[in-house]
Amino acid sequence: MQSNKEKLLRTIPGLFALCGTIREAAAHAEAEPAAAGAMKEDIAAGVRAVEAAAHPLCPEDAPAPAALDELAGLEGKQIVEFVNTWFSEAIGPFLLKQFQESLAREWQLTQKEAQDIAHWILRELPALPATRKNLLLETGRRCAASAPEFSWELMMQVTDSMTPEEQKQRFPHWSGAPYRSGQHPQTELKCCPTCGGEGVPHLSAFSGSMKHYDTLFLPAKLWMRCKKCGNLYTRWFPTEFLKLGAAPRVLAPVPGHVVVREVDGRALRIWSDILNKIRAHTAGRTLLEVGVGQGHLIAVAQEMGYDVTAVELLEQEAQTTADLLQLPVICGDFLHLEEDRQVDIITMGDVLEHLQRPAEGLKKAAALLKDGGVLWLSTPNFESSFTRMMKTFDPMWCEPYHITYFSRAGLLPLLEQAGFELLEYSVSNRYNGSMELLLRKKEQ
Ligand SMILES: [Zn+2]
Repeated sequence: MQSNKEKLLRTIPGLFALCGTIREAAAHAEAEPAAAGAMKEDIAAGVRAVEAAAHPLCPEDAPAPAALDELAGLEGKQIVEFVNTWFSEAIGPFLLKQFQESLAREWQLTQKEAQDIAHWILRELPALPATRKNLLLETGRRCAASAPEFSWELMMQVTDSMTPEEQKQRFPHWSGAPYRSGQHPQTELKCCPTCGGEGVPHLSAFSGSMKHYDTLFLPAKLWMRCKKCGNLYTRWFPTEFLKLGAAPRVLAPVPGHVVVREVDGRALRIWSDILNKIRAHTAGRTLLEVGVGQGHLIAVAQEMGYDVTAVELLEQEAQTTADLLQLPVICGDFLHLEEDRQVDIITMGDVLEHLQRPAEGLKKAAALLKDGGVLWLSTPNFESSFTRMMKTFDPMWCEPYHITYFSRAGLLPLLEQAGFELLEYSVSNRYNGSMELLLRKKEQ
């Protein structure tokens, strides 16, 4: 039996090309009535050949065979109309659907295969701009790991060529103004932000598929792999995000400002379990939360009797959490925090992947911890069991807001250099494909 890939690469493009020849024959029959008889025979033979090859691809979905008996009585323009109706209403949509489905199922194409398909789509489907763009995008996704740079360029070309109306139709979930190439300056990360090593393209992903995608980001993301430390980083990141990082200042809760947020009860229970795990390694009660998110951890830590300090980069988030939990929140970059008071516990849930200088972030965490203090952190792991099983379909690849992407093997040496020893490693209960590490600051 033919594999999907063979179906995709040979049968369908070949059948589209044959349909093109049939349409040329119809045009010829119209232009030269003397040749119409011979042309009609060629058309009938061609239609039979296309149907015989196409129908077995998916018999239950195949269109009814063309009424070739009718063709014999047609003349001139009627022949062209007969062929056009057959192509645009019956066989064309069927072939396209089969092609699209093969593409969706097939995991990776080589660069050569992807290039051939892209050329074929551009050549054969000039009249179907929306379909063509969808298919090109799919082709880009199908070589995300095997030809990452080509894949990224293809996905960027497709989205760059979309009008605001096309974007609205295809990606109604995009937030921000319609995406326009060059509208938001992007910074190219020319070397690994973790160790300064040289990077090579590793995998591309379509960030535009994420429901929280904002047009500030490039719709496609190119992950680079550092040849030195083995960790990944994004090639491009919005410049304005890289400029964040003001000097810390304390935001007090606004008296009388009542804030209510949607609460995830499951998250509260998970944090309680995590804090109990931490408690097994330290009796200390002072806790610094880096990156407050929705404030769930802080709320649970307060309930469990911890003396909590919280720091958050984004002012809006910081103030809302301050008001919500009636607790002062430090707004600013935690790299700039004073080191005059050390704590027993630091929690960094899903923070590391957002830092421009992650190794410095870990060293800062060590500086802010007492000797023997505990660091808990979670971050996506591109070699996690989940990601290895999902391959390019792990949505974490598409995450627009992440700058770096670590593996267990790539992260542990950084933690060691920062002065930590690993106490416990586990698969995250909160996010698929993330790892959670419990670490102790070594005595100096
Ligand atoms: Zn590196």
